[in-house]
Amino acid sequence: MTKIAAAGGGSGADYNAAWERILQRLIAEFGQNVFQSWFARLKFDGVEKGMAVLSVPTPFLRSWIRDNYQTRINAMWREERKEIESIDLRLRRPGGKANDGESRVLVRDETAKAPQPLAAAAVSAMRDSGKAGDSIPLDPRLTFDNFVAAPTNTLARAAAGEIAGTGNGSAPRYNPLFLHGGVGRGKTHLLHAIAWEVQKRQPQRKVRLLSTDLFMLKFVSAARENDTVSFKNMLRTCDILLIDDLQFLQGKSTHKEFGYTINALIESGKQIVVVADRPPARLEGFDERIKSRLAGGLTLEIGAPDAVLRRAILEKRLESASRDNAALHLDEDVLAFIARNLSSNGRDIEGALNRLCHHAMHSNEKITVEKAEMLMRDLMVARESRPVKIEWIQKIVSQVYKVSRQDLVSERRTQAVVRPRQIAMYLCKTITPRSLPDIGKRFGNRDHTTVLHAIRKIESLIAKDELLRREIESLRRRIEDEADRDE
Ligand code: ADP
Ligand code: MG
Repeated sequence: MTKIAAAGGGSGADYNAAWERILQRLIAEFGQNVFQSWFARLKFDGVEKGMAVLSVPTPFLRSWIRDNYQTRINAMWREERKEIESIDLRLRRPGGKANDGESRVLVRDETAKAPQPLAAAAVSAMRDSGKAGDSIPLDPRLTFDNFVAAPTNTLARAAAGEIAGTGNGSAPRYNPLFLHGGVGRGKTHLLHAIAWEVQKRQPQRKVRLLSTDLFMLKFVSAARENDTVSFKNMLRTCDILLIDDLQFLQGKSTHKEFGYTINALIESGKQIVVVADRPPARLEGFDERIKSRLAGGLTLEIGAPDAVLRRAILEKRLESASRDNAALHLDEDVLAFIARNLSSNGRDIEGALNRLCHHAMHSNEKITVEKAEMLMRDLMVARESRPVKIEWIQKIVSQVYKVSRQDLVSERRTQAVVRPRQIAMYLCKTITPRSLPDIGKRFGNRDHTTVLHAIRKIESLIAKDELLRREIESLRRRIEDEADRDE
């Protein structure tokens, strides 16, 4: 592809350097685990018509990146080179060139060549798990020690722990173990934790952790090279096979191969753990027999993390991040702000924290609540499935405290109006994704610092006043009920 510099744009070398920095930022922001799964095979092919052309080898990688990371990558490009509007994500042909259309499905095994920045611990973890590339490198952060127990994950955690501790040779109790739940619930974390634990306690047992993507890549390249035998051996000689995100498995022949593999492993008493975003019965494209095989062991759901768990995960993460970087310290109010404002999704927590750490490392500025809000605005916007409107908050607060809506947004500063107004602003910030300036605007064009002051005021009051805290909690429930009724 010709590298066309847009008007006011830079040279090819400038763009390549920008891309290098973006890759570094992706690692810093999302962590090695995520980077390895989704970005290691993302290639920059050049700039065309103000768009950065990126390519990936599989259609599902493309749709995954599009759905989950495109907005962020767009923003990074714009920050690097303001002439770049957005990215254009394409499929690439085996020769390495991008393919414009959806057309043919082309898969290329590039795992061996792709630049894969691995933590030292991950490299040594791979040593025992066969040839490099036969297993996903383990993320040193994803251990049982770092996994926070909560009612939503107790059973899954216990089953995973039991598998990791099962003595060599004893027949597995649950086979397969099938864990399911939405994004960010700790499924991948548990798979890595099992692998770490087995390596530590029983290094003679062979553990293999495969993403569905890696399974497909391996299978397709083995088929192309007429070497399905070693592929089969690679899978069937392990003692524990861990498979991540099974819902992504695509293609008739890969489904078939997957079916053979799990049958063979189960029959020879080897342990399988599979995770997916849905239960076996709802998997698409799988044969009924495979689905019932998958459901024939133990199937457990991991629920969405609640605010308490989000906060605990955040603290855990911060604790280990500050071990690497002593300068990193987030104030209590910043922590509380993040835990409150992020979605129920563990991945957002991780992304937010990585972003904050990155910022802390590269600037001497202290992270304040305002700064945190700015850095994470896009993560917070995506959070509401059923948006709560500022009007409802104002309506309910004015009913409960018997002040009129006009007073609430007016200049009046009597105590009878000021406190309900602060409470309303606090609720707007905690249950809607609106930014501080937005909220200020809706309260009689106030400045964002006034909103921030109100939020801090209420926070400091509820820290001391349990009654007020409960009162606000019940207001929040009423407002959310209102949103439900409005559906
Ligand atoms: P999933 O695979 O279910 O989409 P992950 O395992 O990738 O989710 O979790 C997303 C992020 O949230 C990871 O950084 C993970 O460590 C963290 N996380 C999720 N649940 C927990 C938990 N219970 N304890 C500690 N960290 C968690
Ligand atoms: Mg996962």
